[in-house]
Amino acid sequence: MTPLLDVRDLQVAFRTGPMLARRDVLGVAGVSFRLHPGETFALVGESGSGKTTLARAINGLQPISAGSVHFDGQRIDRLGRAAMKPLRKVMSMMFQDPVGSLSPRMTVRDLVTEPFRIHGVRAELAAETTRLLALVGLNDSFADRFAHQLSGGQARRVGVARAIALNPRLVIADEPTAGLDVSVQGEVLNLLNDLRERLGLSMVIITHNLHVVHHVADRMAVMYLGRFVETGQTDAVFRAPAHPYTAALLSANPEPDPDKARERIALPAEVPSLLARPAGCEFHTRCPWAQARCRTEAPEMRPHGDRHLACHFPLAPGARPPERDIPT
Ligand code: SF4
Repeated sequence: MTPLLDVRDLQVAFRTGPMLARRDVLGVAGVSFRLHPGETFALVGESGSGKTTLARAINGLQPISAGSVHFDGQRIDRLGRAAMKPLRKVMSMMFQDPVGSLSPRMTVRDLVTEPFRIHGVRAELAAETTRLLALVGLNDSFADRFAHQLSGGQARRVGVARAIALNPRLVIADEPTAGLDVSVQGEVLNLLNDLRERLGLSMVIITHNLHVVHHVADRMAVMYLGRFVETGQTDAVFRAPAHPYTAALLSANPEPDPDKARERIALPAEVPSLLARPAGCEFHTRCPWAQARCRTEAPEMRPHGDRHLACHFPLAPGARPPERDIPT
C-alpha cells in the first residue's frame, strides 16, 4: 500500500551564531517514518526535541536541508509556495494555543469558513458553518461569537472545525490539548478520535503529553535532540519501553491506576544544547544506564523486536540493567 506520508531521512538546519562565526545547527537530524491512510502517528519528546520543527517541515512551512517528504506518492519538499497551496487543502495543520491561534477580530462563522475563501472553494457558507460546527459538537449559536467569548475547549473545537473544513486527508495537530483542563482534554481527544473514524482522516499528533499519545495514536516516535530514539506501536511501547529516555518519560507520566504506576526514573534536568551535541549516544549525559561504549559510539536506529530503537543496551521487561558506570 502506498503510504499517505513518507518522510525519508529528513533534516532541518538553522543558521545561528554571530555574523563572522555563523554555523548550521540541526534541529531535526535525519528522521524517517511512514503514515498509512487512517493511521494516527504521535511525535513525543520534551520541549526543544524538534517535534514542531519536523511538523512544520512536513507541511512545507519550514525549509528542509536534506531528505525528502512524499505525500500520496508525490514528492512535495521541493514545491514552492504556490504549488504547495492546493496541497494545504488536503494536508491541514492545527496550531498550538487554542484561543491565540484564532483571529480576535473574526467571528466563529468567519473563522470556520476562512479556508473556503483562502482556497477559492465555492460553497454555501451558511450551510458549511452549520455542518462544521455540528461536526465538532457546537451549535449554531456559537457562529456569531468572537474568540475571546469562547472557553479553551470551545476555541479548540473551532480550530478543529477549521482544520477539517476542506475535507483534508491528513491533519497535523501540534499539542492539541495544550492549555486545556484535564476534563476538557478528554473531550477534545474523543472528538479527534471520532472525526478520524467518521471522516477517514490520518493524523500526525505532536505532543509532550503521554496521555494524549495513549488515547489517540496507533504508532509513536520518541524524539530526542531532533532524532528518533524509539518508534513502535503505541501499546507495545507503553507496555515495555526499551529506550531509557522513553522509560523516563513514561515514568514521569501520572498514572491514575496505582497498580500500574511505574517507578520514577529521575533524569538530570539539563538537556544538552543543539550547539554542543554530546559525542556517542547523545542521551549518555542523562542516561541512568550509560556505559563506557555509550560515550564514544552513537547507536543507530535498528529493528529491535516489535519496534525500532537507537540504544546499545535496551531495557528488557523484568530485567535490571547494569548501573551507570561513567561519571555524570
Ligand atoms: Fe543509555 Fe547507552 Fe542506551 Fe544511550 S546507548 S540510551 S546512553 S544505554
